[in-house]
Amino acid sequence: MRFLQWRTGEKLPVLGAGTWNMGENGARADDEVEVLKLALDLGVTLIDTAEMYGAGGAEKIVGRAAAGGRDEVFIVSKVYPHNATFDGTMAACERSLQRLATGHIDLYLLHWRGSSPLADTVEAFERLKEQGKIRHWGVSNFDTDDMEELLALPAGRNCAANQVLYNLNQRGIEWQLLPECRKRDVPIMAYSPLAQGPLARHRALAPIARKHRVAPATIALAWTIRGPGVIAIPKTSDRDRMRENAAAADLILDRDDLAALDRAFPPPSRKHPLALN
Ligand code: NAP
Repeated sequence: MRFLQWRTGEKLPVLGAGTWNMGENGARADDEVEVLKLALDLGVTLIDTAEMYGAGGAEKIVGRAAAGGRDEVFIVSKVYPHNATFDGTMAACERSLQRLATGHIDLYLLHWRGSSPLADTVEAFERLKEQGKIRHWGVSNFDTDDMEELLALPAGRNCAANQVLYNLNQRGIEWQLLPECRKRDVPIMAYSPLAQGPLARHRALAPIARKHRVAPATIALAWTIRGPGVIAIPKTSDRDRMRENAAAADLILDRDDLAALDRAFPPPSRKHPLALN
């Protein structure tokens, strides 16, 4: 596994596991727990979840996968915007901790911006940190203007990550958000790095995948984490795919690969509003 040096002094794996769509079907729960345990064995020790996923069911799957080795797992969860008042955030975190069967969440994110004042959410995050219920907090789906507003708040600079859509099809953040987050040492967590699946079948990836003797998905993920300050969090409920995805951490794409990918998926030439899907 490759790591990025977080400004907190910790090292974070550049690949994590997503859990959207997990915890929705009791008949699949045992398999989902096993796939996440495989991820941990492969060094994919960061797991991304949210109170939203499976209406709390995904957090229960994560809790089961992390049981017995909690200190080796970095758990990311998220509060719904409609819960993100001060009191609502405190209560939502408590419920997440119960479902995760843990005493703390490593990184707690505001899932997207809603109508609650940011200052109230940040105040709750800071209180939860003081109480030891979360270790760090961050945001998700924040574009440059949202980040400016956040960083202007008294504790805003404690924001430890911004989770946004980033993949070969959606490179808009490279224009402004990504460089600004890098400058401020706020890692980007790239969600939907396989564009929810289709990128793993994209024909432009096939020749590069053949050259490196890996799956096309491995190429898409290695591309996502090619530069500093980016963590990709692909989701799979399949063991073989989990291995393909984990392999991306060991693959460095060369100049020819990157040029071919730039031709097939051109970088942005202007600012685009942050993509959400
Ligand atoms: P994704 O990771 O880009 O793609 C997941 C899809 O790709 C699944 O259908 C999966 O199917 C398939 N897949 C995974 N690995 C594959 C492989 N090696 N080969 C072929 N197909 C593969 O999409 P995502 O789930 O939207 O994003 C990842 C995670 O980011 C989510 O699970 C969630 O944790 C987080 N997220 C956050 C936000 C936010 O607003 N903050 C939004 C979206 C997602 P199988 O499971 O059947 O393998």
